[in-house]
Amino acid sequence: MKIKFQFNKIFEAINKNLIKPQKKLEIRLDRLSMDPHHYWIAVAKGMERPFTGEFWNHDQQGVYQCFHCKNSLFQSDTKYQAQTGYASFFQHHKNSVKIIDIKEKFCMNCQSYIGQISKDGPPPTFLRYSINSGALRFYQPKQIKQLQNQSQK
Ligand SMILES: [Zn+2]
Repeated sequence: MKIKFQFNKIFEAINKNLIKPQKKLEIRLDRLSMDPHHYWIAVAKGMERPFTGEFWNHDQQGVYQCFHCKNSLFQSDTKYQAQTGYASFFQHHKNSVKIIDIKEKFCMNCQSYIGQISKDGPPPTFLRYSINSGALRFYQPKQIKQLQNQSQK
């Protein structure tokens, strides 16, 4: 009972930080503009088979963004190896992830499904985010800079 209570507190605190992004990107999650694998995850809430995704065993420094809208979801320094076969994180990027209930997580920006959450992660959050590789794009710091420069031109 006590553990459950503490977890709810953390959960509450995380959700309190979530405010809507200022610039709302319109992303259409539909069957015609997406390939079946990405559609299946984002809309049908599919979970990839463990140990098959691109990022479950990926440990480079950088940022993981939403595959569809490029919202920054996770930093590599909050990623850890949970041996679940999914890309595992203990914390999401501020204002990026919408937690509907204990099992479901969505991109805050485009509302696509990204994965699951459970309460057996490491400190300081004790949360474990299991994320589908097919919901993510990975960028190294220098690639992020290049993207920012391109968008300013
Ligand atoms: Zn998104």
